Amino acid sequence: MEIALIGIGKIALDQHVPAIAASPDWELAATVSRAGTVEGTPAFTDFDELLVTRPDIRVISLCLPPVPRFDYASKALAAGRHVMLEKPPGATLAECHALTELAKQNGVSLYATWHSREADKVADAKAWLASRVLRSLTVTWKEDVRRWHPGQDWIFEAGGLGVFDPGINALSIVTEILREEIHVRDATLVFPENRQAPIAAEVAFHHPQAQVQATLDFRQEGEQTWSIEAVTDTGTLLLTHGGARMFIDGVEQGASQDGLSGEYPRLYAKMAALVQRGGLDMDLRPMTHVADAFLLGRRETTAPFHF
Ligand code: NAP
Repeated sequence: MEIALIGIGKIALDQHVPAIAASPDWELAATVSRAGTVEGTPAFTDFDELLVTRPDIRVISLCLPPVPRFDYASKALAAGRHVMLEKPPGATLAECHALTELAKQNGVSLYATWHSREADKVADAKAWLASRVLRSLTVTWKEDVRRWHPGQDWIFEAGGLGVFDPGINALSIVTEILREEIHVRDATLVFPENRQAPIAAEVAFHHPQAQVQATLDFRQEGEQTWSIEAVTDTGTLLLTHGGARMFIDGVEQGASQDGLSGEYPRLYAKMAALVQRGGLDMDLRPMTHVADAFLLGRRETTAPFHF
């Protein structure tokens, strides 16, 4: 199937382009970006022009930051195209619900991707937890925003999510592996005094019997930490490296097959299957928790942040 990639920036070039190139399902037929291009691929700067002049391209993958994404997604769906959304699926939940309705009205597929759910050991972690009683779950997601999002000022603008941009990845794993539903009951968000989005956060969740909490920080220099520890009645599970490695009671469970490099190939395989069978895949739970943290969270102010 031919696919067009919109927003040729960091994630498009790092992950989407190689995943599409390696896929038996997809051919990159066009890009739309104001400045970015992919060598050898027809490049548009105007999305409306692509939609009108390339009716043969039935599938659109959106790699823009969240705030501009809705206008592109709604135009694509209204034009009868199937749409794949980078995470988060929108800047607000209402946008995501509107896109869902639009996809249904137009009889096309819509996929809210959560790349971290496709990390190598997430499915194994879910299977291990399925038969156990959870006592506590602790997310520690600490990374250096300068290293992973160099110069991306949008991430600290309103709607950019700040530290929840990576934090929502952790929540996408947590909502996938936990049997029980959780919801935010308390949060503290730390805003640099010159920014509109938090640089760190502590979030506590309600769970039927366990303590569930997350510590998120965008100021981590040196070693980076993306880990989830789940203590159960019969052992402790530790996911590290964003879900690529798994330990039970300190013992690693099989070497990682593909680290994190399997995430985007698996997303594109799922999109291909979704388009073939029709329908939607719009799990909004990670986004709901982030929205609730913003609704409920206490605000603290910290030193100004500059890239
Ligand atoms: P990015 O490089 O800053 O932006 C992607 C592209 O979107 C830009 O190159 C730009 O292309 C276009 N764009 C930016 N602002 C726009 C606007 N206001 N209107 C229209 N187009 C605009 O960001 P990214 O790191 O690729 O992240 C994009 C999305 O992927 C985010 O939702 C992020 O959460 C997700 N993601 C990022 C990473 C990562 O490691 N960076 C990992 C996984 C997922 P033009 O200027 O050429 O139009």
